[in-house]
Amino acid sequence: MSPPPANNFDTLLSRIKSALHPANELTEAETLLASGREYPLVKIVLGKGNPRRILISAGIHGDEPAGVETVCAFLENELYKNFLKDWEFTILPCINPAGYDVGTRNNQDDIDLNRKFKEEQVPREVAFVKRMLEQPYHLDLELHEDVDSPGYYIYQKDQSARLSSLGRTILDRVERIHPLNMAEDIEGRPADRGLLSRLTDPGEMEWWPMALYAYERGCRHVFTLETSPTLPMDRRVKAHLEAIRAALETVPDLEEL
Ligand SMILES: [Zn+2]
Repeated sequence: MSPPPANNFDTLLSRIKSALHPANELTEAETLLASGREYPLVKIVLGKGNPRRILISAGIHGDEPAGVETVCAFLENELYKNFLKDWEFTILPCINPAGYDVGTRNNQDDIDLNRKFKEEQVPREVAFVKRMLEQPYHLDLELHEDVDSPGYYIYQKDQSARLSSLGRTILDRVERIHPLNMAEDIEGRPADRGLLSRLTDPGEMEWWPMALYAYERGCRHVFTLETSPTLPMDRRVKAHLEAIRAALETVPDLEEL
C-alpha cells in the first residue's frame, strides 16, 4: 500500500474553489505570513441571511486531516444544499494552514492554537476565529481527530440548563459507520458511550479551546467531534459527515440567540 499523500494547503484551496459555485462564496479574509510564504485564512459563507446559523471548522490542529477532508467532501458533494432553506453556513476549512502543510498539531510558531482562546493577545489564526464568533451560532461543530482514541467521541456543551439529546443522537448515527470510544473515562473526564458532557466550568479553566470561547460567546450547542485515526480516512470522513447531517436534521426548534 502506498503512503497517503502529504497534506498540501494549495491543493486544498483549489479543491475548495472548484467545489464552490460561484466561487465568491469563499473569502480569503486575511493573510498569514508563515514559514516563508503567505497563507490565506479562509472562510466560506453559504445561505447568507438565513435564520439558523452554523459554524463548521477544521484543521486547527494541522495533523488531523479528516476534518479538512470532511469539509472538502461536504462542499464537493453539495451536502449543504438540503439545508440551505433554513441555515446560514460559515465554514472554516483549515484554521492552521502552515501546520496542515507540514502535518504538525501546532502552528509555525509551535503554538497549539486550540489552547489560546482565553487570552487577549493571540496568534493571528485565533484572532481570525474570534472575529467569526462575534455573532453567536445555533450550532458550532469543530472537527478533530484523536490519535490516542480507539473510537469516535464528542465533547458537548449546551446553553440550556438541561443537556440536549443532540450529542447522543449524533453518536447513535455515527456508530453505524465508525466505532465509538466506549471508555468510561476519556481525557480524564467521565464519558458515556463516547459522550463527554460533564465539562469544566469555563471560569475555572486556565486556558480555553475554541469550543469554550464559542460557548462563552453564546453559541447554543457546541460540539467537538473526534475521530480515531486507527480507521481508514474514508470511514473517518463519512463519520464526520454523518455527524454534521445528524446535527442539522435534529437541532431543536429555532432558539433565540
Ligand atoms: Zn484536535
